[in-house]
Amino acid sequence: MADILSEYWHHLPVEDALDLLEVDPDRGLPDWEVRQRTETYGRNELTKHVGPSWISRLFDQFNQPLIYILLASALVAGILREWVDCGVILGVVALNAAIGFVQEIKAVQALEALARVMTTEAMVVRDGEPRRLAASLLVPGDIVILEAGDKVPADVRVLSCIDLRGDESTLTGESVPVQKGCEPLPRDTQVADRTNMMFASTLVTSGRGTGVVAATGDDTEIGRVSSHIAHVSPLDTPLTKKIAQFSKVVLVAILALAGVAFAVGLLRGQSVGEMLMASVALAVGAIPEGLPAAVTITLAIGVGRMARRRAIVRRLPAVETLGSTTVICTDKTGTLTENKMTVQQLWAAGRTYSVTGRGYAPVGELRADDRSLTGSLPPVLAELLRAGALCNDALLQEGEDGWRIQGDPTEGALLVSAEKAGVAIARLSIDYPRLDSVPFESGRQYMATLNAAPDGRSLAFLKGSIEALLPRCERAMAEDGSPQAVDTAAIEQAVEQMASLGLRVLAFARKDFGPEVTRVEQEDVAEGLTFLGLQGMLDPAREEAAAAVRACREAGVMVKMITGDHAITAASIARQVGILGGPDAAPDGASADESSDVVLSYRDIQALSDKELEEAALRTRVFARVSPEQKLRLVEALQASGQVVAMTGDGVNDAAALRRADIGVAMGMAGTDVAREAADMVLTDDNFATIEAAVEEGRGVFDNLVKFITWTLPTNLGEGLVILAAVLAGVTLPILPVQILWINMTTAVFIGLGLAFEEKEAGIMTRPPRQPNTPLLTRELVVRIVLVGALLLAASFGLFALMSSRGSLAEARTVAVNVFVVVQLFYLFNCRTLVGAKKGPRFFSNPWLWGGVGIMVVLQLLFTYAPFMNRVFVTAPIGLWEWGLILAAGVVAYLVVAAEKAFRARSRPQDTSESGRTV
Ligand code: ADP
Ligand code: MG
Repeated sequence: MADILSEYWHHLPVEDALDLLEVDPDRGLPDWEVRQRTETYGRNELTKHVGPSWISRLFDQFNQPLIYILLASALVAGILREWVDCGVILGVVALNAAIGFVQEIKAVQALEALARVMTTEAMVVRDGEPRRLAASLLVPGDIVILEAGDKVPADVRVLSCIDLRGDESTLTGESVPVQKGCEPLPRDTQVADRTNMMFASTLVTSGRGTGVVAATGDDTEIGRVSSHIAHVSPLDTPLTKKIAQFSKVVLVAILALAGVAFAVGLLRGQSVGEMLMASVALAVGAIPEGLPAAVTITLAIGVGRMARRRAIVRRLPAVETLGSTTVICTDKTGTLTENKMTVQQLWAAGRTYSVTGRGYAPVGELRADDRSLTGSLPPVLAELLRAGALCNDALLQEGEDGWRIQGDPTEGALLVSAEKAGVAIARLSIDYPRLDSVPFESGRQYMATLNAAPDGRSLAFLKGSIEALLPRCERAMAEDGSPQAVDTAAIEQAVEQMASLGLRVLAFARKDFGPEVTRVEQEDVAEGLTFLGLQGMLDPAREEAAAAVRACREAGVMVKMITGDHAITAASIARQVGILGGPDAAPDGASADESSDVVLSYRDIQALSDKELEEAALRTRVFARVSPEQKLRLVEALQASGQVVAMTGDGVNDAAALRRADIGVAMGMAGTDVAREAADMVLTDDNFATIEAAVEEGRGVFDNLVKFITWTLPTNLGEGLVILAAVLAGVTLPILPVQILWINMTTAVFIGLGLAFEEKEAGIMTRPPRQPNTPLLTRELVVRIVLVGALLLAASFGLFALMSSRGSLAEARTVAVNVFVVVQLFYLFNCRTLVGAKKGPRFFSNPWLWGGVGIMVVLQLLFTYAPFMNRVFVTAPIGLWEWGLILAAGVVAYLVVAAEKAFRARSRPQDTSESGRTV
């Protein structure tokens, strides 16, 4: 049915579509019918189209300059009839491709697994009741409710809508949101113009509506085109690109050197064949083969570690950017606080009331002057509570594990306060059926509903921020329910009093209409309201938030609160978690230039020019009543002064700021699908502390990358130098090309990668963020690389010369190769920490490293003693005395580097938090 008709859904009137799909739009499908349709149509999931992309990935492994060089080398070796060399080089090419391919598959799979964690949910009406379900469970005929921020779960024919708009860029490429309607359209309307349909994978950017599912899974429009969607490799990051660039430079330099060596050798009268082999050795030796793969693997390991700490990375570059984050702009509600709201105070007609009880259980009572009021409410209070319960989309339910709310906790708290005061909310929604509503949006800061009162009038109830509501009020309700003048001063004083306790304050108002009014628009409630009162709710700060804020401070990362809430409430919470004031907020001047207690609000920000904002954004720690557009301005202002910004967001309108931020952070629990799609990272627990953890992991990943690079490059340098020296000195090659390949491949895979699993260094969160424009390798690291490279040259060349005067050429070369491997083994332990680490890791803390060392030792013994290996790699067994010399070389190298590190650490004793922040 669905597949035959799929071309015509937009052409059918709503009633016909419903008839065809055999569903009652008010009750939805009965459960037994859903079961049958699931059998017929399957789950609402896309079949994976993976085939061709894997093949192209495999080909990509060969499409690298390095491989060209190796293939050319194999050709040269073949021409020279060095069959073993030729075979080994080809073997290495194959091995390299295989390793790269497997690693890439693994990395992609890991990312895909993470993507699956983030399933879309949908609001569905089944068996007469609304339910929240995984989108994959939908079947054709399901009635779905679409709301701003949702991802459309299937192809849906719109049944009714208010201001419904969709972002269909995933499907049509059109980035301007499309206005939706429900009137039938001509049969030949193109997909992009089918405005009475909403399509799977697109996003609802505003309004709300209902629809009937017309097609699911592969029958959807996105399902039909998904096989055509170009596969974008998620594995490229700025860093991998930089390294690819670096490899190319190295490559050119090496080719030039090889050319020079070749010419010099020939001039000295050496044979063409020997010089060709020398050039090949130089090329394969000096190129860091393992580097690109190691980078990708290290990043992928970082993604896994972050996921374990509840931060899901959606884009790989985020892993490295996190490490250099200098500012975290965080939400308040739900991120720094628990988002568990309890109304504690009410204010109406000049009197303050308190509410007892905590949590969502409606146990507690309303008190005034130490007297319980439950059951005998003054009229204005009854109206205030009624407004809170009616202007409300949340549900209060008693489950097995106690009372729960479904929906926005802010609204749930209002249901609880009404129940505690004895207002029966279940009755209320029957007595005052809802006719229409204006949904809450953080940009306008209020919500309105229109309800039919028992006496026939239509009543609009509003709730929202005091700034949004008070200017619209013409009069206020007196205690007895009669109208009186608005006492603005008293109201504002009451707001400040509640807010200074950290309470989130909502204002309530009403407007009366005649029975003929059944719709409400924003303009209808723009003025002429009656002010009802205030409700103040407690949202406790998260216990772990203060420690996480402190950790960020110590790490030189500024923390700024950006909230839609009232300035005083925001300041109060900011003080509780240590963002504002407090003795431990600014250790030794790290944030001295942030002026402590200033809070900027919407209007303050509005009054600033971009240039002024740049400066103010740096100085200020709390921004209140911020609109989504201002979030974007703040990100841009901070970036303009060179900051690397992580910004949280959850609403539809936050998408622009999330995209603009260096790290857009969305909430996994409370956020909208729109925000999650725009984000680089999603917090599965919505918790600020998780951002801090991710920053820490990001720094660790970056450290490990640098460790690997610092460890691997000296080998390449040393090999290049050895060959060059041999050519220039006119002696035979101390290491053959196949032997060089052996060293490079085995050490990188078995011991080098162990560094990717290294634990984070102890002082990782007490040093300032890495500046994004600093080179990967600082001068000190370059010096160390050259130092170790020179040591390798001296040791292997020296021992080779010594040995060739005492034994066979094969023995001498075996010694030279073992020098490289053993020095790398020792040097590996130098590289477990970078410069400046105060305390080294525990010696046995990294089992991967030790496993690799074990394997490497066995391999090296085989390389030296196994007859088969002797034949392939032209090696020969060596004696204890030789091993002694080789080990001595390793120990010397280790001690030299250790001394160099100690010297550096002493000459720069304070390199941690004291050195301040990057601005
Ligand atoms: P934040 O998430 O930073 O606390 P929001 O944008 O959610 O800020 O809310 C901003 C303001 O909008 C709140 O202080 C409150 O006054 C008002 N508000 C929040 N939620 C609702 C709601 N569901 N209905 C009406 N008004 C709301
Ligand atoms: Mg919010």
